[in-house]
Amino acid sequence: MPRICVRISLAVLTALAALAATPQQSADHALLGFTAESTRAQRDLEARFDAQLDADNLRNWMRHLSRHPTHVGSPGAKANAEWIAEQFRSWGFDTRIDEYQVLFPTPRERMVELVAPTRYTLRLGEPVLAEDATSGVTQDRLPTYNAYSADGDVEAEVVYVNYGIPADYEELERHGVDVRGKIVLARYGGSWRGIKPKVAADRGAIATLIYSDPRDDGYFQGDVYPEGPYRMEHGAQRGSVQDMPQYPGDPLTPGVGATANAERYTVEESPTIMKIPVLPISYGDALPILEALGGPVAPTSWRGALPLTYHLGPGPARVHMRVAFNWDLTPAYDVIAVLRGSEYPDEWVIRGNHFDGWAFGAGDPLSGMVALLEEARVVGEMAQTGWRPKRTIVYTGWDAEEPGLLGSTEWAEHHGAELQEKAIAYINSDGNGRGFMGVGGSHTLERFVNQISPDVEDPQTGVTVRERLKARLAVGGNREAASRTDLPISPLGSGSDYTPFLQHLGIPSLNIGYGGENGGGSYHSIFDSFDYYVRFGDPTFEYGVALAKTAGRATLRLANADVLPLRFGNFADNVRTYLQEVEQLAETMRDDTEHHNLLVDQNAFALAADPKQTYVVPEKKETVPYLNFAPLHNAVARLEGAAARYDSHLASAMAKGGLDADANSRLNALLQGMEQRMTRAEGLPRRPWFRHMIYAPGFWTGYGVKTLPGVREGIEEREWEEVRLFVGEIAAALDRVSDGLEEAVGILD
Ligand SMILES: [Zn+2]
Repeated sequence: MPRICVRISLAVLTALAALAATPQQSADHALLGFTAESTRAQRDLEARFDAQLDADNLRNWMRHLSRHPTHVGSPGAKANAEWIAEQFRSWGFDTRIDEYQVLFPTPRERMVELVAPTRYTLRLGEPVLAEDATSGVTQDRLPTYNAYSADGDVEAEVVYVNYGIPADYEELERHGVDVRGKIVLARYGGSWRGIKPKVAADRGAIATLIYSDPRDDGYFQGDVYPEGPYRMEHGAQRGSVQDMPQYPGDPLTPGVGATANAERYTVEESPTIMKIPVLPISYGDALPILEALGGPVAPTSWRGALPLTYHLGPGPARVHMRVAFNWDLTPAYDVIAVLRGSEYPDEWVIRGNHFDGWAFGAGDPLSGMVALLEEARVVGEMAQTGWRPKRTIVYTGWDAEEPGLLGSTEWAEHHGAELQEKAIAYINSDGNGRGFMGVGGSHTLERFVNQISPDVEDPQTGVTVRERLKARLAVGGNREAASRTDLPISPLGSGSDYTPFLQHLGIPSLNIGYGGENGGGSYHSIFDSFDYYVRFGDPTFEYGVALAKTAGRATLRLANADVLPLRFGNFADNVRTYLQEVEQLAETMRDDTEHHNLLVDQNAFALAADPKQTYVVPEKKETVPYLNFAPLHNAVARLEGAAARYDSHLASAMAKGGLDADANSRLNALLQGMEQRMTRAEGLPRRPWFRHMIYAPGFWTGYGVKTLPGVREGIEEREWEEVRLFVGEIAAALDRVSDGLEEAVGILD
């Protein structure tokens, strides 16, 4: 560990000592949804659970599962699905493999060459390294490409577009650079990769190249592989470019499971498949293209770490690009393992992780998958000694996550009605590393998460993962968050398998993982391998065990709680914050627009421009009207009251020993459907598949979350009618939750 880190951990330890004094969620406190007595039984169970976890299992299973390519449709993925199913069966789970026929294009041809002013044929390949045993395993391995790129054979001048997000095109416009009929070169980062070709096509470009700039992902950050963990010269990032913010999953069957006889779009009809060719390249291959660009010098913030002056173009760099794909339907295998509950068998706790990777998938996703398997092994073995969870536990291994959450989405769409009736929560994990607990999810589960983190020890420091996270927040300057009773969990955008459960079906969801200590550049390359992971990921798998303890507790507590452990005060607090944010956003946009229009009137932009540079004077913008947020304010105020009453009524009922069986099951039936009350059947504008009114990935971000999306994106896009509509729709959703809470208080009373 370099010196700088030593100094930081000393600061962390001092902060730890200081924070140790602050009040904790004490161990003898009854857990949310449990009585004092059932809390004790639960803690005993968890102690037995922890004692049986074995890091060596995680290591051995990762080595086994990552020995061959494991992308959907590969022999390796099929073998891994069957092997995972076999493990579950051997641990006593009722196990099956659900198969879906998904569209998964693989490359038939990839060719890119710089044809002017000089010639260079791009390598489009990753080297074999002696230090990395599987880097030489080429059988069935996918080359570097972007799934759901269009077929195409094009030649044109190149334009450098920075991250290629909408704001970058406004900057290009200001420089008088037009991408119509051009090939754009974008760097990875800043958004979901599918946004880049989507915006480029929207602006008239005919193809997109996406490269990893070493400033974001390479030698600027540290030593490159195999010396260090960062991306080397000819490392490239594979990945899907489907327009996931419209809908994830199989592009041909939105909203329904991709069963063999499902009705399907044609490839041409599918709105989430790109209409222009796209290909990822390494910074080694991007260098000659960037060196051959002329035109305006790129703005400072656009400059990466390659040894050259970054220019915008267009040209004189000209590129000829030809890509073609096998547009095949491919079997995706979801492994489903069920342990039936003893008291509430029709209440399901679902715990999932994907097992498919772009190549060997050691870090992404197997580091999380092996933790899930170890949780299941111990739970299965405890069940074989006669213990049973009260609710049914369903462990799932998803196939085809990498192309666009296909395995989980098809399963969720296929079983949608039953899941909305029976699922009480979905707990996701994906890649896992070393460092700090990271949890995103439904805020009705924020208190629940904050009762788990004090019970899991951080393997490195010996304090709890809660204390370590609190110290990081405090040292990172987020003192307000660090001082809260409940450390914040982040709202979920997209990027992993929780999306269909939370944002399509309205099932409370969590996404859990450790990280923040191991940077690196193996993501979606052949170097995301076992050899890489045991050097730069989690060499001892102790954070894999920490994940198993964290997600294992979440699963077991949801399965055994007397009353579903949802707390609504946390939810109301977060919604209040989001409301303040969108009001502020409208106000700031109004001020900025007025200021901008004043500058246009004063011809200030022209006067301030550098006469040596091409500069397009911007036009006036539409003024931002005053918006009426009163319906939302009323709904949030009502929600805060209803939540406070419910939370306190539940606390006193549990302190008195809980409810009788009838009241308990009526209350749980009500609570099971609460998150669904936050959804709208018609969904969001332009994307009905996304139905949650509080959380969604941004239409133009793909990964990044937009809270209160109908209003927030309406403001950002100046769609004032949409804003007015969704102020009402979100208020109605919150009122539905308040209705439910008042009914629940009636039961508790
Ligand atoms: Zn993943």
